[in-house]
Amino acid sequence: MEKTITVTSPLLPSLDDFIPYLEDIWQRKWLTNNGHYHQELEKALSEYLQVPYVSLFTNGTLPLMTALQALRITGEVITTPYSFVATTHSLWWNGIKPVFVDIEPDTCNIDPEKIEAAITPKTTAIMPVHVYGTPCNIASIQMIADKYGLKVIYDAAHAFGVTINGKSVLEAGDMSTLSFHATKVYNTVEGGALVCHDEKTKKRIDYLKNFGFAGETTVVAPGINGKMDEIRAAYGLLNLMQVDKAIERRRQIALQYREGLKNVHGLRCLQDIPDVRHNYSYFPVFVDATDYGMTRDELYFKMQEKNVFGRRYFYPLISEFSTYRGLESAQPEKLPVAHKIANSVICLPMYAELEKEDVERIIKIIQCR
Ligand SMILES: *Cc1c(COP(=O)(O)O)cnc(C)c1O
Repeated sequence: MEKTITVTSPLLPSLDDFIPYLEDIWQRKWLTNNGHYHQELEKALSEYLQVPYVSLFTNGTLPLMTALQALRITGEVITTPYSFVATTHSLWWNGIKPVFVDIEPDTCNIDPEKIEAAITPKTTAIMPVHVYGTPCNIASIQMIADKYGLKVIYDAAHAFGVTINGKSVLEAGDMSTLSFHATKVYNTVEGGALVCHDEKTKKRIDYLKNFGFAGETTVVAPGINGKMDEIRAAYGLLNLMQVDKAIERRRQIALQYREGLKNVHGLRCLQDIPDVRHNYSYFPVFVDATDYGMTRDELYFKMQEKNVFGRRYFYPLISEFSTYRGLESAQPEKLPVAHKIANSVICLPMYAELEKEDVERIIKIIQCR
């Protein structure tokens, strides 16, 4: 049996490089609560991502929940069913009703043309996702938000380092959230961040992630504990130094896949968008069963038999899970594009250490059916 290839593999700093950082942390005996490495990583990320206000978190779900608190979002929020469940869960944990809107077939992102019809007097915000790191239609979403007085919180968990014309996608909307989970392009084992656009808001976010403490004896809001510790912040500093190299390697893998799969009938890959710096966080392919001659699931399990483990991100849709499927906006006939995409997608293995021969092997499996 040939070697197992998984959908992803984490980017790890060298252990030799990490040990001096650990020794320093042991010396300082300051393990969490806005320590030295926490501050260093916020600074380094703010420079790398070209956004002045970055607040670190201990995972990528708490920034979503905290953004909703910081902006005092209530009532209903318009969002996409085509994402990781954390997007919608963050609304539910804040007592907010999610309202699902269908997606665009090309980008898999929320379709701005369908947002207005979902707005009610209770709508207070839009929560789109830059799925696979492909930027949403930011201008159209902002126009609708401005027209109806809505906030926009982007779940940018997939969009680390993505820019449009050299400008960070994280500048869009009122806030953007990032995930630094082990499976993402850039990881701190577990981790995340919330990006906002002014100092006052960052201060409020930083209170909220530390139980609401604004001073030794002052609690200004019902905050939560979302703080990142020193060990992971130091690890994050090291990983940041190699993330560009990793993204470049991912780009080469994406090119190899696209070239190898371009003549496969019934299979669609995502292409680069001009002026966008992509991060190649995922490599989804979409299977048209009639043209390809095999269903998505048939291909998915055939790959598994050959020890290649893709993932069906995002299947099932969030709107299909028991918590949400009773909502009126979750009815399948209202989300035809999302259902079609969810039923045709496989994310192929994609990570910096994936070798040329591995990609070749995966292409061959897909080519001969
Ligand atoms: C990974 C992810 C999250 C959650 O991040 P965690 O760090 O795992 O909490 C949220 N939204 C999307 C779209 C994600 O892919």
